[in-house]
Parts: sequence; structure tokens; C-alpha cells
Amino acid sequence: MCWYKPLLKPLAFRFIAGETLREALPYGLRVQRQGLTPIFDILGEGAKNKEDSVRVSGEYIHLLHEMERNHLKGGISLKLTAFALDEDEETCFRAVSRIVRHAQPTKTIVWIDMEGPGYAPKTLKMYRRLLNEFDNVGVCLQAYLKRTHKDILSLLPDNPKIRLVKGAYEQPENAAYTKHEEINAHFKKLLTLLSENDVYTALGSHDMDIISHALTLPFPTHFEFQMLKGFRKYEKKLLSEHGYIVAEYIPFGKDWEKFIIRRIQERMRSLRWLVMTIAGMDK
Ligand SMILES: Cc1cc2nc3c(=O)[nH]c(=O)nc-3n(C[C@H](O)[C@H](O)[C@H](O)COP(=O)(O)OP(=O)(O)OC[C@H]3O[C@@H](n4cnc5c(N)ncnc54)[C@H](O)[C@@H]3O)c2cc1C
Repeated sequence: MCWYKPLLKPLAFRFIAGETLREALPYGLRVQRQGLTPIFDILGEGAKNKEDSVRVSGEYIHLLHEMERNHLKGGISLKLTAFALDEDEETCFRAVSRIVRHAQPTKTIVWIDMEGPGYAPKTLKMYRRLLNEFDNVGVCLQAYLKRTHKDILSLLPDNPKIRLVKGAYEQPENAAYTKHEEINAHFKKLLTLLSENDVYTALGSHDMDIISHALTLPFPTHFEFQMLKGFRKYEKKLLSEHGYIVAEYIPFGKDWEKFIIRRIQERMRSLRWLVMTIAGMDK
């Protein structure tokens, strides 16, 4: 365990629903009672071998059973590196398809998170393979990546389910937009593309500029908001009261450091932007 983990714990519990499924399930039920859709994520990334991959898929299948037993209707989200994507694609495919198959009878959507630099091609390759066999699977795409427009176009014939987010990892400048205005402009353009092609869309953002834009677009087939636990409590409630589908992404598990550090980095970027804007130095 890293030395600073105990210091982060009080902060972490604002953004995660605990370290165990026993803690996460009652939280999910509370979320559901508020009219929101829970999406559970078991924290952890970077499995090194087949044994890890099989163990994590077992944990997800147990989660699916417990969701059904507790009448929790929602989704699950996972990272392919938790299934040894880097070590062996076949091992990863088998483990994830086992989960998606278990999720099929209850029509639970399995969302595939998008990870850091270089993961888009491998993730999309895996997503296409899964889409060949299953329709209850969606993928996250990152609006800061310049390639995402092409990726959406290439997925269209396969009837994808797409969660669009800004992107949480440091990326090389040639691959990604880095300025807030550029990222938001690209995000809006991509949302319009999804709307025009009537793609099953989930918007993963807490940025009111992006959320307001999405509210102006028609999405005849399916549109939902997805927001992380610990963010925009009031707006989640308001949107849901206005009839929108609003999902809350609920991470849990012992392996929470990397997730929390990404959230802290985002807050630091937001604060930096706020200070620069107030000081008139944001140009
Ligand atoms: C459900 C869900 C799933 C996710 N899954 C993934 C995933 O699989 N992969 C991944 O990479 N990421 C994922 N993310 C994280 C995502 O990529 C973002 O890092 C995170 O959501 C923060 O971006 P934001 O759109 O919420 O808004 P932020 O950029 O955090 O903005 C929030 C607010 O701060 C203000 N603000 C902040 N910075 C600036 C700035 N520079 N200029 C102007 N205004 C600013 C805005 O006005 C806005 O209202 C996910 C997010 C969600 C909600």
C-alpha cells in the first residue's frame, strides 16, 4: 500500500461507494430509489495474467447476480486492462464475453471504459468483436482525441452504443486537443454527429456547457446522462425530474488510488482554469 493512501481515504469515499460489494449494493439501491440508474464499476486496472483476468470476471459475474437478486436495474462498466488486455487479447476477450453473456438475460449493458494513450485501437478492436456477438455492450470514446470523429464513423455500421466523455488521461499533443475550448468544440461536434446518426448515446460529463448543448439535440433512439458519484447531485435530480434518463457511475473496490488521483488532477485543472479566467490569463 502506498504511504499516502490513508490520507486520501476520506476524500475517496466521496467518489466511491466503498471497498466492497456489500457497501456498494445499498448505495446503488439508494441511487435507484432517487430515480437514477446505477452503473457499477469494480476498481482495478492492469491485470498481469490469465488468473487475474478470470478472478475479475468472476467478481463481475457475482456483481451481476447480486444486482439481479437485489432488483437493481442498471449497468456495469469495466476496463479491459483489468482482464490482461496488454498481455493476451484472447484471454481478455474470453473473460469479457463471459461477463457480457451473463448480463444478456437481464438486458444489462456492459460499458467498456476507454483508457490512456494508445488504448483506442485495441479497445475498439475488442468492442467490434463483442458487437459481433452481443448487443448489450457499449464503449466509451474520448472527445479530446482527434481520432474520435473517424472512430465514430467507422463504428456506425455496427450499431454501437457510445458513451462520450472528454478524456481523463494525459495524452501526447499530436493525438489530443488540450485547450478547454477546443475540447468542448470537438465534444459538441461529436454529439451532433451521434445525434444526426441516431446513435444510442450516453453523455459522460459534468460540464454544464456540454450538458446544455446536448439538451438542444434530438436523439430519437436513446439518450442518457451519465455522471460520476460525488458530482452534480442537484443537476442529476433536476434532469431526472424532467424525464431524462440519468445514470450514476458508482466505482467501488480496494484498488481506488488511480481513480481518485485522476479525479484530483481534474479538479486541479478546473481550479487552474478558474483562476486563469478570473485573472484574464486564459487566452
Ligand atoms: C460516467 C462517466 C464515465 C467516464 N468514463 C471515462 C472513461 O472511460 N475514460 C476516460 O478517459 N474518462 C472517463 N470519464 C472522465 C471524463 O473523461 C472526464 O475526465 C471527467 O468527466 C471530467 O470532465 P467533465 O466533462 O465532467 O467536465 P470538466 O472538464 O471537469 O468540467 C467541469 C466544470 O468545470 C469547468 N471547467 C473545468 N476546466 C475548465 C477549463 N479548462 N476551461 C473552462 N471550464 C472549465 C467547466 O465549466 C465545467 O462546468 C468518465 C466520466 C463520466 C462522467
